[in-house]
Amino acid sequence: MIIILKPNTNEMQINNLIEMLKTYGVTVASINGKHKNILGLVGDTSKIDIETVKAQTIVENIRRIQEPYKSSNRKFNPEDTIIDINGKTIGGNKLQIIAGPCSVESEEQIIETAIAIKEAGATMLRGGAFKPRTSPYAFQGLHADGIELLLKAKAVTGLPIVTEIMSIEHLDLFADVDIIQVGARNMQNFELLKALGHSDKPVLLKRGLANTLEELLMSAEYIMAGGNKNVILCERGIRTFETQTRNTLDISAVPLLKQLSHLPIIVDPSHATGLTSLVEPLSLASIVAGADALIIEVHNCPEKALSDGAQSLTPQQFSDVMAKIKPMAEYIGKEIS
Ligand code: PEP
Ligand code: MN
Repeated sequence: MIIILKPNTNEMQINNLIEMLKTYGVTVASINGKHKNILGLVGDTSKIDIETVKAQTIVENIRRIQEPYKSSNRKFNPEDTIIDINGKTIGGNKLQIIAGPCSVESEEQIIETAIAIKEAGATMLRGGAFKPRTSPYAFQGLHADGIELLLKAKAVTGLPIVTEIMSIEHLDLFADVDIIQVGARNMQNFELLKALGHSDKPVLLKRGLANTLEELLMSAEYIMAGGNKNVILCERGIRTFETQTRNTLDISAVPLLKQLSHLPIIVDPSHATGLTSLVEPLSLASIVAGADALIIEVHNCPEKALSDGAQSLTPQQFSDVMAKIKPMAEYIGKEIS
């Protein structure tokens, strides 16, 4: 980190600032030019609060050289993180295909869908029990009963399950869930992230609707700082001016996150576009871009879905998409298992 000081700063003020900075455990070098004084900070600057430093009267400007995220940063952990999910792995040379309905609605719906996606080649089952809906009058999910039904579907198919948490209060209900999803709207629910940091469950962390990649990585940092290193990032589309699609899939986020971080990354082509017809091309693009997994909405009868029916594939459509995904995965050297 480099701190540029205002002109006409006296030595006592500089020394006071240096002493303050040293309390963060960094080494400070002072460079005194004819017109400018600069402080160079060496060491772990991730705990330095930029705003506090900016608030010092003698500080003119600050430049970060090191990223503020540490645990998720590839610079400090060059090897890809591979996360074990009940014997299946996310990361490395595997490609996981997570599929299932937006919401768990009934036993028949989730079991039928789970059997169908497994037959088509999916490796994990998704389904929301707690639903973050824009309208309070829309279906909110079956809550604890929804998780019970997912566990039934897991018992029938053997597929690990992924489901979203919306409140710390519900954490106990997730004891037998394989991957806990933090949805786009909760990406910066910092208390929830901290609580998940104290658990050892893999966390699927979705990018917020209008969040930068650095903000996503800082949210991952919240979980990892608590000791839970099992974080999977998810690109699910962001808000742009385009109205043809529900969101805009930021495909460049995939290779970029791979460069910045060692964490695995999932792409959600369903929420990214809101359109069933775009799920196949964007699934293929995501695999080529380096995604470690896809999460795709599939419903046994999308027309009757209580949420996100318009973006949900029928089991047959999913099976057709899988027929394209399989050779693409093989082509780039990834195994679906
Ligand atoms: C979901 O996965 O059903 C969901 C609500 O996703 P997102 O948080 O990406 O909108
Ligand atoms: Mn959905």
